[in-house]
Amino acid sequence: MSTLFISDLHLSQDRPEVTKLFLTFLQQHTATADAVYILGDLFEVWLGDDMILPDYQSSIEQINNLVNNGVPVYVMYGNRDFLMREQFENLSGATLIHEPHVIDLYGTKTLLMHGDTLCTDDVEYQKFRAMVRNPQWQDEMLAGSPAERLALAKKFREISKTETAQKENEIMDVNQDAVIQTLRDNKVTNLIHGHTHRPDTHHFKVDNTNATRIVLADWYKTGSYLSVDENAYVTHQIKL
Ligand code: MN
Repeated sequence: MSTLFISDLHLSQDRPEVTKLFLTFLQQHTATADAVYILGDLFEVWLGDDMILPDYQSSIEQINNLVNNGVPVYVMYGNRDFLMREQFENLSGATLIHEPHVIDLYGTKTLLMHGDTLCTDDVEYQKFRAMVRNPQWQDEMLAGSPAERLALAKKFREISKTETAQKENEIMDVNQDAVIQTLRDNKVTNLIHGHTHRPDTHHFKVDNTNATRIVLADWYKTGSYLSVDENAYVTHQIKL
């Protein structure tokens, strides 16, 4: 038995092949898993549970099938899909989880995050994040009409595109001091996250103790998942 981790699928009507990869993953790679964790940005955009895009239906149904077959699915908010609420849980059968989320991974306390909060060098983004993750801001956003929400999302997308193009590559990666402090705060030495689209395994020290940070891959031409059991961490590719 193993626990599976994925992140940053950015499911979207513009990239139907990624939806196909995700359905393949759910149908062919998850049946015997202890659990499946989706660590943020499952969806490219989520404007409210009452505005679910038709292109998302098959993915949500297939998650629900998996849960009904006895495999729990946990979905963490990303920086794209943080407006998922109860209706998403009802339709998908998945459980929404908030970071920081610490689990016992076959005897190793492991911190799960999306990863964007670790990118502290990107001061502009952190300001934006503080605004959009404010519950009052979110309530107001969700109370807006669908047209208003679409317009706001479009505006944010344009700002993000312009800003991202101007930013140095490094500031969009994690800040190592933030990583170390976060591990300290959560009293763990094992971290799994996504967001940066820089899949890798990093080994370093936190207060003289060995620590590990595993970065999950985003899904683009292929899918990718991390499988963990008592003995090993293995990254698998999924192709159509
Ligand atoms: Mn992200």
